[in-house]
Amino acid sequence: MAAAVLADDEEPSLNLGAGGLKIGKGGVPAKYAGLIQEAAEDCDAGLSAAVLAAQIQQESGFNPRADSGQAQGIAQFIPTTWASSGIDGNGDGKKDVWDPEDAIPSQGRMMCKLLKTAKKHPEYNGSPIELALAAYNAGWHRVEQYRGVPPERFAAGQTYHYVEIIMAGVKRFSDEGGTSSSGWTRPVKGPLGTPYHARGGAWSSGQHTGIDFVVPTGTTVRAVGSGTVVAAGPGGAYGNQVVIRHADGHYSQYGHMSKVHIVKGDKVKSGQKIGISGATGNASGPHLHFEIRTGPDYGSDIDPAAFLRNRGVKL
Ligand SMILES: [Zn+2]
Repeated sequence: MAAAVLADDEEPSLNLGAGGLKIGKGGVPAKYAGLIQEAAEDCDAGLSAAVLAAQIQQESGFNPRADSGQAQGIAQFIPTTWASSGIDGNGDGKKDVWDPEDAIPSQGRMMCKLLKTAKKHPEYNGSPIELALAAYNAGWHRVEQYRGVPPERFAAGQTYHYVEIIMAGVKRFSDEGGTSSSGWTRPVKGPLGTPYHARGGAWSSGQHTGIDFVVPTGTTVRAVGSGTVVAAGPGGAYGNQVVIRHADGHYSQYGHMSKVHIVKGDKVKSGQKIGISGATGNASGPHLHFEIRTGPDYGSDIDPAAFLRNRGVKL
C-alpha cells in the first residue's frame, strides 16, 4: 500500500506532528504507525490516532495473529462483524482479517461510523469516543440500552473496563503524552461556570475558593498534572473529593465527585482518569469544583484558571 511503513528493525521515537502518534519504544510499533495514522485521517469525525492505537493495544497487544477463539487479528473482529464491516484496505483484492493492512483500516472505518452515531447522543452518559469504544466492544444496541457506556454490572464489567483502560492508555500513544513540556491538562471537558472568588453566602469563606466546570454527573475527571494522591474520599462540604500533590509544590483539588477511582498514596499521571463527576456534598447541582492550592488543605487556594492558563491549558 501507499503508506510509508517503516522497516521492522527501525524503532525511532519520532512524531507525526500535532495530534500524532508516539512511535517506537513505549509507543506504537513503527510498522503499524502509518496504518493507524491513515485510518484516523480517513475519518471526517475527528477520530484520534492515539485512541485507535490504545484500542489495538487492548484488543491484541499489536499481535496480528491474535485469536481469542471468537475474535481474530490485530483489531479482534468477530467473524460476523468482519463479514459486514471488514474492508480491503490495501486493495489486494482480499478482505483478510489477519492482515493489519485490512484490519486496521476496517477498525478505523467502524470506529468512525460509531463515533458519528455517538455524536448524535450528547444526552448519553460518556463522551462520544467513549460511547464509540463501548459500542465497538459490546454493540451499539448495548449503548442505546444503557443510554451510555454500559455500567460495571453489565457483562462483569468487561465493556466498562475496556473503555476505561483504552482512555487511560491514549496518553501513552500520543506525542503529546509523557514527553510534553507542560504536562498540564484540564480536569474535565465542559464549560466554566462560577468563577474564582465569586461572592456568595453558599460558601463558608463568603467567596468561591475554586472554579466550577458545568458538567453532568458521570463526566470523566482527570488529574490536571502528574503527582501523588494525598486525599481521596468524603471531604465534608466538598462531597467525594480528590487532592493531588504535584512535583512543583502545588496541589489540585476536585470536589463533588460521584465516584473516586484512586486511593490515597496512588501516583497519577497528567490526564489520568481519577473518577467521575457528580453532585455530592454541598452542591446546588452536578458540576466539578476545582481548586489549585499551595498546601493540601482548604484555605490555601490560588486562582486555578490563571494557574492552568499559565501552563498552556485552554479553558
Ligand atoms: Zn465550586
